[in-house]
Amino acid sequence: AGLFTDKAVISIAGRPTALQYEGIGGLDDQIARVHEMVATPLERPDLFARLGISAPRGILFTGPPGTGKTLLARAVAARTEAAFFHINAPEILSKHYGDSEAALRKVFDAAARQAPAVVFIDEIDAIAPRRDGLSGEKQVERRVVAQLLTLLDGLSDRGRIVVMAATNMPDALDPALRRPGRFDREVTFRPPSHADRCAILGVHLHAAPLDPGVDLDAIAAASHGYVGADLAAVAREAALSALSRSVASAGGEAQ
Ligand code: ATP
Repeated sequence: AGLFTDKAVISIAGRPTALQYEGIGGLDDQIARVHEMVATPLERPDLFARLGISAPRGILFTGPPGTGKTLLARAVAARTEAAFFHINAPEILSKHYGDSEAALRKVFDAAARQAPAVVFIDEIDAIAPRRDGLSGEKQVERRVVAQLLTLLDGLSDRGRIVVMAATNMPDALDPALRRPGRFDREVTFRPPSHADRCAILGVHLHAAPLDPGVDLDAIAAASHGYVGADLAAVAREAALSALSRSVASAGGEAQ
């Protein structure tokens, strides 16, 4: 028992809740590749020191929105017991001089303090577009790319940190980011196949009491072009409509 007064300080640890690979449908290859790339650098950095090589630092996830890039990054962090830091790139762009760079530095500093850590930068194209095509008023982006490069280059001194970044426009990124020692590994996420859609529906409906007449295979066949986020929404909407039907048939009381 405790008492919350105006002097109470509540702190929430930076580690993610248990997110398991089993909660991701249809991305077995991506899971295996990313796990292999990050598990050793995060868990056994001493092996790289023994071999005299630098550990991989950056992985670029490419693919359309809603295909599970964030989900996978979080799950890898959870599995390797690394702290997880999420940066939504468009949100840190600030017009105030130096603020965006400071925001980036703050996250990398926090990650260094809590290492092993995964830093995930979503929509990285927003803060790191090709510098050669930037007009004069895009000075913020220019400075942020430079800051990000500095932070990436400084990583091996800082300890067990892996940076993952996601984009659906890899060609719009500044090429300097994709050089060796930076985001030099890439993992592609594609819209799910029929079998993948079945697996994703299975994940989102595993706890639902399904009517025996529900044919997930047929739903997967009818949902060509749906990504994981769409299929999660299908499962949620189905559950909500079952709930409202059951409330209505119980005359206002949920069964
Ligand atoms: P964005 O670029 O918009 O951030 P994203 O690729 O990072 O997209 P997520 O945020 O990982 O997509 O996915 C959104 C939600 O969609 C997840 O929280 C999850 O519920 C569902 N989802 C997406 N892909 C999968 C998948 N492969 N298996 C199970 N659920 C998925």
